[in-house]
Amino acid sequence: MTSAKAYKDAALAAQLSDRVYRPSEDSDPSFTAEVEKIGGTAAHLCFQCGTCTGSCPSATRSSYRIRTFMRRANLGMKEVSLTDPDLWLCTTCYTCSDRCPRDLIPTDVIFAMRNMAAKRGIVPKNFLATVNFIYNTGHAVPNNDANRAARIKLGLEAEPETTCKYPEYLPAIRKILEAYGTKQLADKVLEGGQ
Ligand code: SF4
Ligand code: SF4
Repeated sequence: MTSAKAYKDAALAAQLSDRVYRPSEDSDPSFTAEVEKIGGTAAHLCFQCGTCTGSCPSATRSSYRIRTFMRRANLGMKEVSLTDPDLWLCTTCYTCSDRCPRDLIPTDVIFAMRNMAAKRGIVPKNFLATVNFIYNTGHAVPNNDANRAARIKLGLEAEPETTCKYPEYLPAIRKILEAYGTKQLADKVLEGGQ
């Protein structure tokens, strides 16, 4: 004979009997569509298996959980996603994307959210400092004397076949960073101390 489960705590019992999904104020259905459009991956197919987080090198060293961001994408949780500092802890290694059993690309969900956050001017300063390195040298990690010496020791030219050797291509890189407002954002945030 079966009997209904009963909970001594009436408030808990009422809470557990509620089977209706109630979106929070931070729930914007258009967010899911926007993330999918920018990221180019069907994030709504995520079934929360956790393979992505289990594969993520950042997850073992931080509070960042890619599965959480996938869930937020599907619940339309725009504000918390775009303002969470953990959004910037993905290394973009694509391991999660290699292993997702639904063939999703969680990395590109993160890129989509980062793009949306950047449009609001929400970008960590160290990322914007990297923008300036690229603007000034064409490289996120510019060449330096130690690298040059190591390259020569290996029988290579001191400068690689990039803007290091062909600085005449730097203006084109600068044009791209300016066209998308990336350089202006870096200057504004870094100088303004936001
Ligand atoms: Fe979702 Fe894929 Fe991550 Fe599984 S591995 S939780 S399906 S994104
Ligand atoms: Fe983690 Fe980002 Fe690498 Fe995916 S791409 S495994 S989220 S660090």
